[in-house]
Amino acid sequence: MSSAKPETRWAVHKFGGSSLADARAFASVADLVAMSHQGHSMVVVSAMGQTTDHLMALMDAAVAGDPTDALIEQLRIDYDSIASELLGKTGMPHFEADLGDIQLLCQTLSTLRCLPRPAYDFLVGFGELWSSRLLSQYLNHRGMQASALDAREILVTRADDQTGSSAVTQQATDHGRLDVNVDLDASAQRLESWLEDPLLHGSDIIVTTGFIAATVDRMPVTLGRNGSNYSAAVFGHLLGADQVTIWTDVPGIMNADPRWVSEATTIATLSYAEALELAYFGASVLHPRTIGPLRELAIPLRIASTFEPREPGTVIGEKSGQTRSIKGVTAVTEVALLTLKGPGLARVIGSSERLFDVLKQAGISAILIAQASSEQAISVAIDDHLAERAQAAVDEQFALEISRQQIEPLQVYRQCS
Ligand code: ASP
Ligand code: MG
Repeated sequence: MSSAKPETRWAVHKFGGSSLADARAFASVADLVAMSHQGHSMVVVSAMGQTTDHLMALMDAAVAGDPTDALIEQLRIDYDSIASELLGKTGMPHFEADLGDIQLLCQTLSTLRCLPRPAYDFLVGFGELWSSRLLSQYLNHRGMQASALDAREILVTRADDQTGSSAVTQQATDHGRLDVNVDLDASAQRLESWLEDPLLHGSDIIVTTGFIAATVDRMPVTLGRNGSNYSAAVFGHLLGADQVTIWTDVPGIMNADPRWVSEATTIATLSYAEALELAYFGASVLHPRTIGPLRELAIPLRIASTFEPREPGTVIGEKSGQTRSIKGVTAVTEVALLTLKGPGLARVIGSSERLFDVLKQAGISAILIAQASSEQAISVAIDDHLAERAQAAVDEQFALEISRQQIEPLQVYRQCS
């Protein structure tokens, strides 16, 4: 996989919503960009503060047929006030037109009473667009040379991924869209031509949107909650960046959760494999998909704090850095353990398939799976808040066996860790 412009040195910096919560936070971000800027910088931003949640609440209200004007007005107030604090004037470019589009779409949603996937993806992505426009304007205001880039012009999702126009269900918005992946080759081509645009000459800082991408036919797609980290990793890959830094509100990846372990310290270096394990086991700083695009080109990923920018944070790369085998201790909480058991399971080919199929239909992912060799029981750990949905679905699937007492009704232990 070749990078877009091998002769240019790039660094990628990603700032999440809490690093862009208000005007003061934008100012610190601009300081950080100025401080770390050498060569060329690609700055990937999330939506400001709680904007994504606000947009989701707006869509929920529209679909429920509730009034949405006040929610839209709140967006106008919030963004006008931050724009006037940062730039000394209200009205970001396109902002009124965007609000007009949002209002129209909300009217449509309240007529349809459902949320088609493309409408969701289009609407929920405005937060990132506004952040990128505000930050690039603000950087220019402070004398830097920045341009805004809508990542939907560059990031193409893979055609075989599920970007269909079905309605958005609760579970699809809750849990990231692990079904959408960026096509790195197609995106590299688009980035290469974009970077050739003469209008860009002179801008050595590009501020782009996390979280949003587009299909080959340019239909908007989102990359799942907290997907901006993945966007940053993808841009790092496409640019062959020297490093990708995720700026966040914690000092790096810790060797234990500081809420539980007061002596927890930051881990200086981790290998990609170790980071993936920790990311999975609740080190929520890192979206698991962030590693793949970087690992392929051995690009280091640094996690650092916007509050203590001079601290080294955690650097994830090819080498583990330490010889000690235990890097960190972590836990997955809010888990329910399901056990399906009974003589009717033993030696019956396909019963585990039925169990997992019914979980799949209910949109539930298995965190852990265990089956004893006697085949009398299968245990599956899932997110605790999905326990009731799982119980109803499994008991319905095995109703016949349960009525014949070949299988017991699903056992559910709530609130495990
Ligand atoms: N703004 C999106 C979200 O809140 C994406 C991100 O923050 O990474 O999920
Ligand atoms: Mg966010």
